[in-house]
Parts: sequence; C-alpha cells; structure tokens
Amino acid sequence: MRQPLVAGNWKMNGSRASVAELLGGLKLGIGAVQTAEVAVCAPAIYIPDTQAQLEGSVIKWGGQDVSVHAAGAYTGEIAAGMLTDFGCHFVIIGHSERRAYHGESDALVAEKFAAARGAGLVPILCVGETLEEREGGTTEAVVDAQLDAALDVAGVAAFAAAVIAYEPVWAIGTGVTASPEQAQEVHRHIRSQLAGHSAEIAESIQILYGGSMKGENAAGLLGQPDIDGGLIGGASLKADDFLTIARAAN
Ligand code: PEP
Repeated sequence: MRQPLVAGNWKMNGSRASVAELLGGLKLGIGAVQTAEVAVCAPAIYIPDTQAQLEGSVIKWGGQDVSVHAAGAYTGEIAAGMLTDFGCHFVIIGHSERRAYHGESDALVAEKFAAARGAGLVPILCVGETLEEREGGTTEAVVDAQLDAALDVAGVAAFAAAVIAYEPVWAIGTGVTASPEQAQEVHRHIRSQLAGHSAEIAESIQILYGGSMKGENAAGLLGQPDIDGGLIGGASLKADDFLTIARAAN
C-alpha cells in the first residue's frame, strides 16, 4: 500500500512574511490530514525559515532544483549537501519550467537526480509531454526518454527512494487539467516501464500527478489506482487550498 504524498511547489513566489503565514496555516490545519504525507518545496532562500518553522512538525520540506556538483566554483548553484544541511527531505528535479527556461536536458536532469540521491535527498523527478507532443502521439515516448535517462545514470535501485511526478506541460499553471483517465493512463505506463527494471520498486514508488490540481478536481485524480498524490503549484500558495487537496487523499 503506497502512502499518498501531496507536495507543494511554491516556484518563485512569496516573501518572508507570506512564507511565515502560509506555514503557520499549514501547521494549524495539518491535523485533519490523516493519510497523506505532506511537503513543501520552497525557493532556496526561504528554506532556512521553512526549516525553522516546520522542524518538529510532520510536514517535510525540500528544494526546487539542485546542482550536479558537490561544491566549488559554480556561482549561483546550490549543492545537494547544502539542501540536506537545512533539513531538506525532497528536491524537485527536472521541472518543465527548468527544462524550458534553463535548457535542462534529460541527461542533465538525470545527473541532478543522481546527485540528489547521492546526498540522501529524495528527488521528485518531473516528467511530462508538451501539448504538441501529446497531439503528435508521442506522450509515452517522451516520458520514457525522460525516465530512461535517469535509470541509465542512477540505476533502478536509486528509485527505491525517489518520487516521480507526471506533469503534462500543457496542464501546468494553465487551469487545464488532465482528466483522471488521461493521467491514469500515463501513470500506469510509467509504473509498467519501471516494472521492466524492478517489479518491487514499480509497486512501491509514489507517482504524483501535477498540473492545475486543486480542491475541486483532486478527488477524481487521487482516486485513480496509479495516482499516489500530487505536485501542486498555484494551489499550494494558500494553506486552505493546499490542505483541501491533502485531505482529499484521506
Ligand atoms: C507545478 O508547478 O509543478 C504545477 C503542477 O503547477 P500548477 O499546479 O500551478 O499547475
């Protein structure tokens, strides 16, 4: 039985004041979330504040990106060990915004995945197709290539402590969500691809859906057999909205 995971991706939003307010609201309401594991992925500069507020609570935290390097002359980069130094449990890897705006290739994302695992972080590996790719019938091929790159570099054993987020690019921040059936189809495909490498890991890994998930559509998506939670962007910025989704996993 896989425990659902609901993780917030705050992207580049917030201030010290709004982070304090949001985390305060999450801590107040988390008691009603009985089933799901809950986490927030904060902008790097707010991770120390996040740690200070969440330490001792059941809510976990993480980063939104990581360097492939462990240390050195890489101005602006943040190493996996720096994230663990501030108590991070998770790190988002290969979000479509990083792939699109920072030119992150499948190969680089795979190296980041390995760097995160090497430092003991649990990577949330984002995969997903653009609208053009879906319409061209290549959704599964795109997702397979993204997954295979990480499998090749890190090996299937690394997925024993990893999470996959299926995030169709056309659904991220657009208000258009994949239907539960569309999402389930890809989730099932991802799990069966992993099963070709390890049946045990395929069965235990949490595969999240991401893309305009909100309170109104969460139950339908989370009710699918291969959807084990959500990676939530916009709706993770308000405590009530985020907790509504987390409660839908109960
Ligand atoms: C995301 O950024 O991972 C995401 C799913 O965003 P949104 O929920 O806003 O579509």
